[in-house]
Amino acid sequence: TDILSASSLTKVYGEGPLAVRALNDVSLAFPRGRFAAILGPSGAGKSAFLHIAGGLDAPTSGSVTVADLKLPFADEEALARIRSEHIGFVFPGENLLPHQTARQNIELPMRLRGEKLDEGWYSSVVRTMGVAGAMDELPARLPRAMQQRVAVARAILGRPAIILADDPAHSLDARASLEIVELLRLCVREFGQTVLMSTQDLAEAALAERVILFSDGGVAGEISDPTPVSIL
Ligand code: ADP
Ligand code: ADP
Repeated sequence: TDILSASSLTKVYGEGPLAVRALNDVSLAFPRGRFAAILGPSGAGKSAFLHIAGGLDAPTSGSVTVADLKLPFADEEALARIRSEHIGFVFPGENLLPHQTARQNIELPMRLRGEKLDEGWYSSVVRTMGVAGAMDELPARLPRAMQQRVAVARAILGRPAIILADDPAHSLDARASLEIVELLRLCVREFGQTVLMSTQDLAEAALAERVILFSDGGVAGEISDPTPVSIL
């Protein structure tokens, strides 16, 4: 069954002659427990899609269902609750709280929800994401690649219905980029997570089980089980 489905999403920014159609009637569904990537050039609408799918932005028209809940775009409070309970977001960069340690950042979503940490699950996430050595550091003292690992650990800790990762390897070098994507793949393989990632990079996208090609605000094609390409 689908954990996320988007139906006829259109997003127009601005009005009149300056209006930009970031998404044009996009419908996509994502089954549970799979790793999908959206691949496309800058400006193709990848971020717009992920933001709307994650309830961070409202579409101009169309609807989104996450874990059988239709996102209530007009009700910010209800939307925020669904986001915090069901959606894990990884942003392109610098989205950790600067004055909180890595550990505090990772635990934050659970604390906001008033949930108790399951120690076994917690240490398993920390170990699998490779962030154990970073836990007591402030984000600025960590390499960018480690900051993104912390961001992935934060996204998965609450076991969301889906992890949406918007260009998670943005501005990392090639090796660190693939390592971050491998980490997302681990979330799917080891923990049964569902992950949807966007990227402009073919080598990153090829690590997913399904690649959706975005062009000019629409879906231009799709590839299943791509052959990973080695660039290192
Ligand atoms: P990406 O790396 O995904 O292409 P961008 O750098 O284009 O992201 O955009 C970064 C942020 O700026 C996003 O939150 C996006 O919504 C916003 N943004 C992008 N293009 C414009 C624009 N033309 N006018 C205003 N905001 C924009
Ligand atoms: P991608 O993530 O594929 O780079 P985006 O979803 O960021 O693409 O952007 C799609 C289009 O929408 C681009 O033309 C971008 O400039 C525009 N856009 C994105 N955010 C905004 C915004 N806040 N205001 C105006 N235009 C925007």
